[in-house]
Amino acid sequence: MTSDTLPIRQDRDWQEQLRSAIDSTQQLLALLKLQPRQVSAAPAACADFPLKVPLAFARRMQVGNPRDPLLLQVLARAEELLEHPGYGRDPVGECGAASHGKGIIQKYHGRVLLLVTGACAINCRYCFRRHFPYSDHQNSRGEWREALERVAADPGVEEVILSGGDPLLASDRYLGDLVSQIAAIGHVRRLRIHTRLPVVIPDRVTAGLLEAICNERLQTVVVIHCNHANELDASVDTALQRLARRGITLLNQAVLLAGINDDEQALCDLSERLFRAGVLPYYLHLLDRVQGAAHFEVAEDRAGQLITGVSARLPGYLVPKLVREVAGAAAKTPAAMAKNGG
Ligand SMILES: *Cc1c(COP(=O)(O)O)cnc(C)c1O
Ligand code: SF4
Repeated sequence: MTSDTLPIRQDRDWQEQLRSAIDSTQQLLALLKLQPRQVSAAPAACADFPLKVPLAFARRMQVGNPRDPLLLQVLARAEELLEHPGYGRDPVGECGAASHGKGIIQKYHGRVLLLVTGACAINCRYCFRRHFPYSDHQNSRGEWREALERVAADPGVEEVILSGGDPLLASDRYLGDLVSQIAAIGHVRRLRIHTRLPVVIPDRVTAGLLEAICNERLQTVVVIHCNHANELDASVDTALQRLARRGITLLNQAVLLAGINDDEQALCDLSERLFRAGVLPYYLHLLDRVQGAAHFEVAEDRAGQLITGVSARLPGYLVPKLVREVAGAAAKTPAAMAKNGG
C-alpha cells in the first residue's frame, strides 16, 4: 500500500455495523450513562418508528450530556406523542400527485428522484419519513425498467437523484447495475446521491461502492446529511476523502432543529467543519411539519435571523440556502432573510 492509498475495509464490516445498531432506548442511555427522566425518554414513541442508531454514530455523543446534539436527533422523547394542529403525515406531498409510478418522483424540472430503498441506517426523529408508506415504493434490482423508460423518454431530464430512505444501503451490485442503466440514457449528465451513510457508518464507503457509483460518463454529486459539527470525526473525514478523490462533488444538507443547531455559533461551526472535510453547505431546511416532530421546529423569523447572522460571519460559499419544502412548488422555497436591523 502506497502512502496515499487509504485503507479499505471489507463490505461485510458495514453490514455488521448495521445489524448491530442500537435499537433500544435503554441500551442507548446505558451507553451514555443517562437516566430516562433526564432526557424525558418515551420508548412508547418508538412503536411506529423504532429507535435505530449505529454505534459508530453513538460513539460521537458525549457521555453524561442529556442535551447532546447527536443524542437529541435519535432519542424518542415524550414530546413526540403530543398532537399538534398543522402537523400531518405527508407534509411534503410525496404520497399524492408527485409520485409518477413505482419508485420514481418528479417534482422539479430536469431532475427525477428514484427511491432506491425505504430503509435508513439511522432513524432521525424529525424526519417526514416516519409516516411515509415506503413499502409501496421499493423496486428490486430488476424492476427499474419502467422508471428508467420514463427517464429515457423525457430528454429534459439531465439529472437522476438516488434517494430513499438511504440509497447506499443497497448492495454494491445493485447500485452498480442501476448506475450503468442510468448512464446508458444519453441525455442524463448528472447522478446525485442523497445519503447519510458516510456520516453514520463511514465504513460504507468501500472500494466496491466507489466502483459501483463512479461512472465515467456522469458527473456525480453526493449530498450528505449532517446537522451538527460533532457528527464529523476522523473516520467521516476519511470516507469523504475517498469520495472526493474519485472526483465526486460533496455537498451537505441540514435541517434546522430546535435545541440541536439553532444558534449562530453551531451553524458557523458546522459550515467550517464541513469545509474542512471537503464539503460545501447546500441547503438548511426548515422542518417539514410532520406529526411528532413539532418540538424541533424553529420559527421562520428566528431562522432568518440565524442565517443573516451566519452570512455576516462567513464567506458566501459557507452559507447554506435556507429553504422550506412547499407541496406543489416548482423548487425548494427560499425562506426570507431577516431585515438587517444593525
Ligand atoms: C429536493 C428534491 C429535489 C432536489 O432539489 P434541488 O433543489 O435540485 O436540490 C428533486 N426532487 C425532489 C422530489 C425533491 O424533493
Ligand atoms: S431519510 Fe434522512 S433524515 Fe430521514 S431518517 Fe433517513 S437518514 Fe434520517
